[in-house]
Amino acid sequence: CDTHMYYLDAPFIKGYGDLSRKRFSHKGTFGHALLINGSYGKMGAAILAARSCLRSGVGLLTCHVPRIGYPIMQISVPESMVSVDQHEFYFHTKIDVSGYDAIGIGSGIDHGNGVCEALLHVIQNTTVPLVLDADALNILAEHADWLGKLPRNSILTPHPGEFKRLFGSWINDAEKLDRQRNLSRQYGLFIVLKGANTSISCPDGQIYFNSTGNPGMATAGSGDTLTGIITGLCAQNMGTKSAVLMGVYIHGLAGDLAVKGQSQLSMVSSDITNHLGAAFYETF
Ligand code: AMP
Ligand code: MG
Repeated sequence: CDTHMYYLDAPFIKGYGDLSRKRFSHKGTFGHALLINGSYGKMGAAILAARSCLRSGVGLLTCHVPRIGYPIMQISVPESMVSVDQHEFYFHTKIDVSGYDAIGIGSGIDHGNGVCEALLHVIQNTTVPLVLDADALNILAEHADWLGKLPRNSILTPHPGEFKRLFGSWINDAEKLDRQRNLSRQYGLFIVLKGANTSISCPDGQIYFNSTGNPGMATAGSGDTLTGIITGLCAQNMGTKSAVLMGVYIHGLAGDLAVKGQSQLSMVSSDITNHLGAAFYETF
């Protein structure tokens, strides 16, 4: 078998890319990301992802939100531009997705009528890799044929429950890993199966296990911060594989730094975002 398995630790990640900034760089150098997140009652997910995306170095960020989310986003994340859906409560409009360097979609988007069609429109109208999480994955689970329509090198970030809805249950870890790797190869996707020691399978069939993170991260919104981080890194034109591996590692490291001096049970996902600066500083 030509699969190799790697462990994402500090020396490995340090050797994977250079995030230092050239003196004459400007915000255009670091890409424009689009995040399509949030719905009535779930705008927090959109805020968490947006703040994490910005803390991961993206040059410009636009957040697409339902009308109810407009003042919430503008006030909570002043660094982000806001694109407003025609629907009051959730993602519904077939929007123009051209001109972005990376697109993240799914955190808190919910399941209302018309969301599926709006998601399919995004899938069919961009060539940049999509970062798909949460309800975007649940919609995908109901439309298995869309897997083949996703832009090449798109990134799925399921937790085990979402993975099961997408790809069925498993008998043991070996079978699960095998399926994960085969699906990545078949569809040309990165699959980030989240949990302790998150496993990442790549279109080239390689598998990576993350070394960072702790059970304090088993808390609401933790995955939304990961969506923001990976989308922000993808926008910076470093190659999708680098963005995925670095994103997962940095997310866990920020969680490890955030838990220092507090109990794991008290940790909240904003703590992860607030320690991204220290995590990037320590790593690159
Ligand atoms: P979600 O379930 O979508 O909110 O995602 C949870 C995030 O927290 C993922 O990035 C997981 O890898 C991380 N996480 C959850 N539980 C643990 C754990 N026990 N150890 C390390 N990371 C965890
Ligand atoms: Mg989640």
